[in-house]
Parts: sequence; C-alpha cells; structure tokens
Amino acid sequence: DPLMRRQGENVLKRLRETGFQAYFVGGCVRDELMGRPVHDMDIATSAKPEEVIALFDRTVPTGIQHGTVTVLMNGQAFEVTTFRKEAEYEDHRHPSSVEFVEELTSDLRRRDFTMNAMACDESGRITDVFGGRRDIEAGVIRCVGDAAERFDEDALRMMRAVRFASVFAFRPAKSLWAALRGGRAKIAYIAMERIRAELEKIVLGPYPLRGLALLQRSGLLESVKAPVPQAALTALRDEGRLTLLNALESFPPDAAEIRWSLLLQALGVPGEEAAGLMKKWTFSNAAAQGAADLLRFDEHWNAAREGSDGDLTLLRRHWIELELRFGKKIAASWLDRRETLLRSETGPEAAIGRSVAEKLDRLRREEGRWHRETVVHTLGELAVTGGDILQYIGRKGGPWLGELMKELLFEVASGQLDNQRERLLEFAKVVVNEDGA
Ligand code: ATP
Ligand code: MG
Repeated sequence: DPLMRRQGENVLKRLRETGFQAYFVGGCVRDELMGRPVHDMDIATSAKPEEVIALFDRTVPTGIQHGTVTVLMNGQAFEVTTFRKEAEYEDHRHPSSVEFVEELTSDLRRRDFTMNAMACDESGRITDVFGGRRDIEAGVIRCVGDAAERFDEDALRMMRAVRFASVFAFRPAKSLWAALRGGRAKIAYIAMERIRAELEKIVLGPYPLRGLALLQRSGLLESVKAPVPQAALTALRDEGRLTLLNALESFPPDAAEIRWSLLLQALGVPGEEAAGLMKKWTFSNAAAQGAADLLRFDEHWNAAREGSDGDLTLLRRHWIELELRFGKKIAASWLDRRETLLRSETGPEAAIGRSVAEKLDRLRREEGRWHRETVVHTLGELAVTGGDILQYIGRKGGPWLGELMKELLFEVASGQLDNQRERLLEFAKVVVNEDGA
C-alpha cells in the first residue's frame, strides 16, 4: 500500500530529523523483498516511548511495557518500538525484563529468523546483518544465532518456523530442524492460544499440506498441552485419510469450516467429539461449531443414505431434516465439500472416471436440487403458529402439536404444500382428524 508506505516514511523522517535513529523492521521488510503484500509496517527507533509520544500529535500507548507506542499518521497506524535487547528468559517464554539499547544490530539480533531480522530506512536502504536476503532467495528459514538457544528462550518460535515454512513454501535450515526436533518437548510451555494462532495460519494458508507434514515429522503436536493422540497422527498416513488431507488445498482459505472438518476427519475425530477437541484447542465457539456441524451433517447423511435403500422420498425427507437441523449454510458447505472430494477420488492426473461422473451427477440431481428447493428452514418461517392451529381446530395443545408443525414444515420445505395460512390450517385439520379417528 503506497499510502501506508508514504506515511511510514514520514514517521521515520520526523524521528530522524529530531536526531533519533529509525527504521522499518521485521515482517514488512521481508514481505516487500518477497514481493508480497505488506499489511502493517513496524518501526524500530532509538527514541524512548515518552520521546515518541512527545514528538507526534496522535499516539496510543499500546505496549508501553515493551517500549511500543502506536503512532497515527494521516489515518495510518504504525507500531513504533524502542530498540531493545531482551535480557534473561524465564520459562522459555516471556523476557523477564526489557533493556533499551540504542543500537539497531542488537534489536535485530533478538528477532527470530534471518528473514525477519532486517531493517530498512526511508530511502529503501536495507540493513541485513544476518543474511536474511540470501535465505529468502534460497527459500530457507534460519534462526538468528544458535537455533537451540533461540528455541530454548522462546519455544513458540518452533511453531512460527513451521508456519513460515508452510505459508511461504520454504524449508527449514538443517540446523533449525535439528534444534526443533531436539527441543520439541518445550512447546508444552506455550499457551494453546498462541499455538492455535499459528496452526490457523498453517491450515488456512496457501500450503497447509507442507505445514502439516512438517508438524507431523517434528513431533511438535505430541508435546502441546492438549495433544492430538499419536494414533491419529500415525493414521494420517492411511490412504483414505490422505485423500481428505490432499483435498485441503482445493478449498479457498476462507472456507475455514471445510478445511478444519477435513483435517479433523483425517485425524479420525468423530463429529460428536470435534467441537470439544477444538474448544480444548481454544478455537472460538463459531469455528468449533462450524467444523463439527459439517462433520455431523456428513455422518448423518451417510447413515441416512445407507438406511434408505434407494427410496428417494425417504432420502429427500432426510435431506430436509438435516437442512433444518444444521442450517442452509452448512448444507451448502457440505455440497461443496462433497463435490470437490468426489472429483479428487480419481486422483489429480487421471481423467474423471465414469463412476465419479455418475456420483457427481447424482449429487447435483438429488442433494443439490433439494438444497436449492428448500425454501423454509425453521418453524418460525411457516405462515402459521402452533397457537393458530389450536384455535382453528379447537383443541388443547400437547406433544402432537410439535409433531404436526414439523410435518407441515416438511411438506412446505419439500414443495408439496404452499406456505399459505389457509392451506396450512386446512392441511393441519385433515391430519388431526385422520390421526384422531
Ligand atoms: P506476520 O505479521 O505476517 O505474521 P511478522 O514477521 O510480521 O509476520 P509478527 O508476529 O507480526 O510477525 O512479528 C513482527 C516481528 O517481530 C517479526 O518479523 C520478528 O522480527 C519479531 N518477532 C515476532 N515474534 C517473535 C518471537 N517469538 N521471537 C523473536 N522475534 C519475534
Ligand atoms: Mg506482523
């Protein structure tokens, strides 16, 4: 974003004109060198936080304890952090104290990977003390300094290494990988929220398979606080489950519930347990529910299909029931998921075989059509209420009323009955009289 860059340069200039050092640092320098979109620009400076606050009109003390002040410049926000060198790590996570040092190199030295340890001034001149540019060109993730020590200081860096390798399709340096294998148990010190955030970037990124393969080979997931059972990880090598995993990249990153459901299914997690596992992994309710609902939809539908013996009327009823229960959005995701999985059944190289073409055709004719035709999804959308029905037929309520309402819903949802008050009341009366006789 050239506007952001322009304003960022203004922040650097202002600091420098006042006699301080100031640079863009970290991810934005890396992304620009890689030709990737830059989403935010972090700045490092020799100015102390109170000096930064005094220098700019609009600032927010977003992380004073780490020396960070957010500077607002013509509508753009920049995190401006005083050069720092972290002293003594405890518990393999937080720095116990932050010592401000007026020096760029020691600020860069505390950063995790060579590609994240570069600085850039407002004229575009890059400071690259640790060979970040060379490693980017070679597609290598390398720690700044001794990998084992850096992972010992902060075990989250192991997860970040796998994430960057996955998202950029890079490979870990040999030294990094050896340290990661050796230090993997220390991931247990890291809060699940932070591990989950990295896992999300892997699974919802462009190359999740690469990240998952690295996670599996690293053993990191066996050492987290809420581990995935080893048996599940081993079973990932299974051909059927690999097919599910391979399909991950066929879905766009924003099809999050589909991607998570595929991963859970590949791990052999049943729909009933999926939400619980995701909650343990600190996923949001919405994310856990979406993935779990998709899995349960899939399980229920497969069972219904098996039990229906090819009876289309019965199948259609099952479909409507599932749509009512899980909602239209999950049904649409399921169709999308199923279609892509069917396509990948023959493998990417092979032409789509006859049987797959037939299955796709059936999917579109049956489930797909029903999905499009289902216009009423909840009892509330019916043109009558339970009270209307009681009044119309002059009876007392009871469990039969709920059954009757559901029956009406099926009839309307399957297009057998118009959603009109008079028609529904008439239909209700007929059913009650038949049953009551
Ligand atoms: P992105 O924001 O695209 O995920 P990023 O590199 O900007 O990538 P951030 O988490 O925003 O990642 O961190 C900004 C910078 O801070 C990094 O580029 C790196 O220099 C440094 N950094 C972040 N986390 C760590 C860490 N755990 N250990 C050392 N340095 C880190
Ligand atoms: Mg960032």
